[in-house]
This record gives sequence, C-alpha cells and structure tokens, in this order.
Amino acid sequence: MSSNKKIAVIGAGLGGAAAAALLQKAGFHVDIYEQSPSFSRLGAGIHMGPNVLKIFREIGIEKPLELMSSHPDFWFSRDAQTGEFLSRIPLGDFARKEYGASYVTVHRGDLQALQLTALQPGTLHFNKCLQKIDDNGTDVQLTFADGSEVRADIVIGADGINSKLREHLLGPEAPTYSGWVAHRSMIRAEKLAKYNLTFDDCVKWWAQDSHLMVYYTTSKRDEYYYVSGVPHPAWDFQGSFVDSSRDEMYATFGHYHPTVQALIECSEHVTKWPLLNRKPLPIWSEGRLVLLGDACHPMKPHMAQGAAMAIEDGAMLARCLGETGLDDYTTAFRMYENNRKDRASKVQAVSNANTFLRTQEDPAWVYGYDLFAHDLKSERSA
Ligand code: FAD
Repeated sequence: MSSNKKIAVIGAGLGGAAAAALLQKAGFHVDIYEQSPSFSRLGAGIHMGPNVLKIFREIGIEKPLELMSSHPDFWFSRDAQTGEFLSRIPLGDFARKEYGASYVTVHRGDLQALQLTALQPGTLHFNKCLQKIDDNGTDVQLTFADGSEVRADIVIGADGINSKLREHLLGPEAPTYSGWVAHRSMIRAEKLAKYNLTFDDCVKWWAQDSHLMVYYTTSKRDEYYYVSGVPHPAWDFQGSFVDSSRDEMYATFGHYHPTVQALIECSEHVTKWPLLNRKPLPIWSEGRLVLLGDACHPMKPHMAQGAAMAIEDGAMLARCLGETGLDDYTTAFRMYENNRKDRASKVQAVSNANTFLRTQEDPAWVYGYDLFAHDLKSERSA
C-alpha cells in the first residue's frame, strides 16, 4: 500500500499506539502526535484480557507482554467483610484454551512503553499538543501548541476523554463527573511477607457501595496494586487527580477485611482520581476526522475494559481502512462505527453499572472475542 497519503493519529495512549502500529503494519504512512514531553511510567496497573492479547499478537508484542506481566489463574470476587468468594472466574490455562490467549495484569507504563516499541522509528512525535484543526475537504491542517503545523489526509482522534477532535466535531463540553472516585496505590510486594494473610493474584473486594480491585503488575510479583471505586458527592479539586492518604483509606475502607487493612498499612503513596463519563456520542466521525477509545466512548473503569475497547477500536479502524484503502475513508469510517458501536456501547453500559464478575458468570462474550475472526458488517447494514 504505497501512496503519499498520510494518516495522523492524535494521542499515543494505548488506543492510539495500537491503531498506529497496525496501520503502519498494513503499509499506511502514519505519524503519531502526543502532547506529553516524553514517555513516563505513571504509577498504575491495568488488566489486559485475551480479546486484547489477540490484537497484540498481530502487532507482534504478545510474547514480550506475557513475559513482563502477571498471569492470574482466577479473577476472584470476595465479600469485603467476610472474604467469602462471590465468584471465581477461571483465567490462566483456561483462558488460553477457551478464549485463545492469556489474561494478564501489568504496569500500565510498561505496557505503553512496549506498545511504543512497535511503532516505526521516527513516527512518534512528543511535545505536540493539538490546538487547531482545519478539515478543508481536501486534507486536514493540524496546528500544535508549539506553533508547528502538519497536513494529513485523515486524522484519528485517540486523544482521550478531553479530546480536542471530539470538541472540534461536537463543540466544547466537559465530561460528566460520575459521582465516583478511584483511589490508587502501588505497593512493594515484599512488604506483604510479614502478614499471615492471603494476597490473591487478582481479586475484587466488594461492599454494598464500594470496591477495591487488587492485583500484581509484574511477572516478578514485586509490585502489588489496588484501585478503588467509591461514591463521592462532588469532585471539587483542580487537576486530573489529587494526593490521598492512608488515613482517608482507613476512613473509607475501615469496615473491609483484615487483608485490605494490611494493604492500606503498606501503602506509601495513595492518589485519588475522579471517574468521568460521557453520554454516547451522536457521531464517531465526520469528514476526514474519526474518533476512538475514550475520545469516543469513555466509561467508568469497573469492568477493566476501557483501554481494551480503545485498542479494539484501533484494530477495527485499521482493518476497515485496509479493506477500503485510504481514498475511500468515508466507507471505512462507516464500517468501523458499524462494527464497533454495539460492542463498545454494551461494555460501556456494563462497566458503568459495575456488575461484571461480581457473581459467577460467563465472560466469554468479552474475552472470547477475536476482532480479526469477526465477520465484517458492511457499511450498508448500519
Ligand atoms: P488515553 O489513554 O487517555 O490516551 C490519550 C492520549 O492522548 C494521552 O497520551 C494524552 O496525553 C494524549 N492527548 C490528549 N490530548 C491531546 C492533544 N490535544 N494533543 C496531543 N495529544 C493529546 N482499561 C482497561 O482496559 N483495563 C483496566 O484495568 C483499566 N483500569 C482503569 C482504572 C482507572 C482508575 C481508570 C480511570 C481507567 C481504567 N481503564 C482500564 C480505562 C483506560 O485507562 C482508558 O479507557 C484508556 O486509557 C483509554 O485509552 P485512549 O488511548 O482512548 O486514551
């Protein structure tokens, strides 16, 4: 697929990096523009299910991801107070056999760094904060905060929940605060050795109206990570997160099981994040501009599938453009939306409801999905 036509991807998050890697692999000329000055290993973990590892297989990073990650044999759900099992969802070998790939938990920064290695050298541009978009019908002119300008034939907005591309298409509108916050902390696992308690590889502790998800983020199991979900009336802080504290954790999770009290005791640095949301967007693309991931369908993170949906979006968009070629991007964009909207909207709704795997259920519809084996719906069946 050699042509001089160019694709610009805005945002080198997990969705943008996946889209860019697959489009480059398919022979398109792709540049990726990221506002951050450089890569940084932000302190958070992430689940990646078999639905995503099958995409990473195509990109060529499945094996290194497997080597760096933790491989839980189960997703356990436990009662916050008694510790009794509410569900035991088999992963490990079961996932490899039934869903066709591993289920892993990993440090988000390590995953992003690995994804960025799959990009062609010289195509990732840091310090490029998109400010202005001019889709003149013939091509698109992009202007960045540093005053530089580039032209592209199509532009993929993988620029997250505060997407500039979404704003350009639909007007300025802040995301909705969901009424929930998430506390996050990374624990040095060596600190857990002194407790005579069980620290599961991957467990979600559920109370009536809050939860704590806990898992390892490395194959060495030297980092243990938790992320909470807690109702909180208003987010009246500046910025995307604030520092929290052990005291706040004790006040919020004091009624949880002794295992959770041990985790709080071992927390060195706790942060607190607002969980943001948007109503489904009326359009996913217009003209030469198209959205994916959190720019398009952000969700509360309770199903651990938000980034997975961004990565699936990127892979589907690459597949559709591969089918049509860049000249017929209009058809590709319609096919993409037509093949993504139902699944992304369903995951968005289930994730927002925070019911997934609380009790014993079959997650095959999420993990068993193979984007490349999925029969493409034509644009006409929309
Ligand atoms: P982002 O990851 O937000 O990336 C957007 C990128 O665009 C960023 O690098 C940003 O710097 C850049 N950018 C923004 N504006 C501009 C601009 N103007 N110019 C240039 N660049 C720009 N998902 C999972 O699948 N599994 C999980 O376990 C999981 N856990 C989560 C836990 C929490 C607490 C939260 C809040 C979310 C979690 N998610 C999880 C969801 C996941 O983090 C998001 O859905 C995912 O990061 C979305 O990916 P994205 O590529 O669309 O956007």
